[in-house]
Amino acid sequence: MFSHTIIEPFRVRTVEPIRQTTRDERAAALRAADYNVFRLDASDVLIDLLTDSGTGAMSANQWAAMMQSDESYAGARSFHRFRDAVHGITHLAHVLPTHQGRAAERILFTTMVRPGDVVPNNTHFDTTRANIEDRGGIALDLPCSEGRDPQAEHPFKGNIDLEALDRALTEHAGRVPLVMLTVTNNSGGGQPVSMANIRGAHDICRRHGVPLFLDACRFAENAWFIKMREPGYAERSPRDIAEEMFSYVDGCTMSAKKDGLANIGGFLALNDDEVAARCRNNLILTEGFPTYGGLAGYDLEAIAVGLHEVLEEDYLRYRIRSVEYLAEKLQAADVPMVRPAGGHALYLDARQLLPHIAPLEYPAWTLSCAIYLEGGIRASEIGTVMFGLQPDGTETPARMDLVRLAFPRRVYTQSHVDYVAEVLAFVRQRASALRGCRIVEQPAALRHFTARLAPLADGLYAS
Ligand SMILES: *Cc1c(COP(=O)(O)O)cnc(C)c1O
Repeated sequence: MFSHTIIEPFRVRTVEPIRQTTRDERAAALRAADYNVFRLDASDVLIDLLTDSGTGAMSANQWAAMMQSDESYAGARSFHRFRDAVHGITHLAHVLPTHQGRAAERILFTTMVRPGDVVPNNTHFDTTRANIEDRGGIALDLPCSEGRDPQAEHPFKGNIDLEALDRALTEHAGRVPLVMLTVTNNSGGGQPVSMANIRGAHDICRRHGVPLFLDACRFAENAWFIKMREPGYAERSPRDIAEEMFSYVDGCTMSAKKDGLANIGGFLALNDDEVAARCRNNLILTEGFPTYGGLAGYDLEAIAVGLHEVLEEDYLRYRIRSVEYLAEKLQAADVPMVRPAGGHALYLDARQLLPHIAPLEYPAWTLSCAIYLEGGIRASEIGTVMFGLQPDGTETPARMDLVRLAFPRRVYTQSHVDYVAEVLAFVRQRASALRGCRIVEQPAALRHFTARLAPLADGLYAS
C-alpha cells in the first residue's frame, strides 16, 4: 500500500466561525483578564487548546440519539442505553451517572476516604487531588521513574511505580481505602499506562486487600497506545483492550467530557454492593435520582453513542496522529516538550524553554500568556501555579512546569495545527526576552482557575 496522510475520518457539516484579533487587541484582552487565560472571553481566542474537556464535536448519530431521548425522572429508556454502554465496556456491576467527572470523585471519596487516609495514584489530576484533600485525605503520587523525566523516551511513561505502591500499601496499611490509576496520565503528560502495569497494580492491590479504581477519562486513547506499543495487542480491537483494562479494577470514575465524546457528563461505576448503595444515597442527595444523576436524558444518549464511537479505530488513529503531527513540527522547530507526545495533548517544557525564569516566577504560566499574545492560542499551565500552593499555605515549585496544548476531539483540522506550530516557533525565537509573572490575588484552592497575575516587567517581555 502507498504511504498516505492520515486524514480526519469525517467531513464537516456544521461550521462555527472563529475570529481573528490583532496583537494589540490580544494585549488588551490579556491585561483585562489579569494575565490568566482562564479569565479570557472565548470569543477573543482563535484556537482554543485550553482543554479537551467537553469541547469536542458531536456526530450526527449523537445528535440523532439525543432527539430520541426519554426525559422520564425515573427508569428512563435513556438511562438503560447509557448503563448498557458503560457496562458493555467496563463490566462493572453498578453504574451511577454524574454531571461530570469530579462529581463521581466527590461521591466516591466522600463515601470511602476518612481524614488521614492515603490514596495512591500514578499522578492525581487536580480535581482528584482537591477532592481527596477536601476529605482530609492524602493524595500520594507514585509515577514511574521515566515519568518524572520530561525528555525520557519510554512507551508507557504514565505507569505507576509498582514497587513504591507495594511499599506505600505496607507502610500505610489500614489507611488506604483505595488505589487509583489515571489512564492516560493527564497531569503526567497525557502518557499511557501499560496493560502489564494495570495488571501489576491489580495483583499488588489484591494482595493487600485494597480495591483498585481507574480514573478512566481517556480509557480509549490509553487502549490505542496499548494496541500500538505493547507486545501482544497489535491485533486486538480497542474495545477488546479497553474491556481487559477494566477487568483488572473494582471500579472507575469517568468524565464523559473526554472519551465520552460528549459536552457534559460522567459516571462512577463499581462492583461493591455496599459501597455502591452508599454512593447512590449520596448521589440522590446532591446530583439527582440514580437513573439521571444530574444529566438530561439526551446527555445520557449522547454519551452512550460517544462511548461507542470513541473506540473506532479510524477515529483513534486520527486522534493520536494529530497530536504526534504537531510534536514532529515542534521538534523540527526545536521547541522543548515532554517526549513522547501524549494522547490528548502536547506538553511544552517551559523550564527548558525559559531557564532564566525561576519556577516561582511561573515560567509555564508566562509561556501560556505569550502564546495567546502572539497567536491567539489558549493553552493551560500545568505547573507551579496549578500545583505549587500547599494545603498549609506555603509555596513550592511543581515537579515540572508544563504548558498543555490540549486537542478538542474532532474539532480542528491539519491547517489549524500547522498554524499552531508556526506561532510556537515564533514564540521560541523570542523566548529569552520573556520575563516571569507574580500572583496578585488568589483563592485558597485550585488557584489557577481564578487567580489574578501581573508580569514582573512592564509587559510579558523585558523592555
Ligand atoms: C477531566 C478530568 C477529571 C475531572 O473531570 P471533570 O469532568 O472535569 O469534572 C478527572 N480526572 C482526569 C484525569 C481528568 O482529565
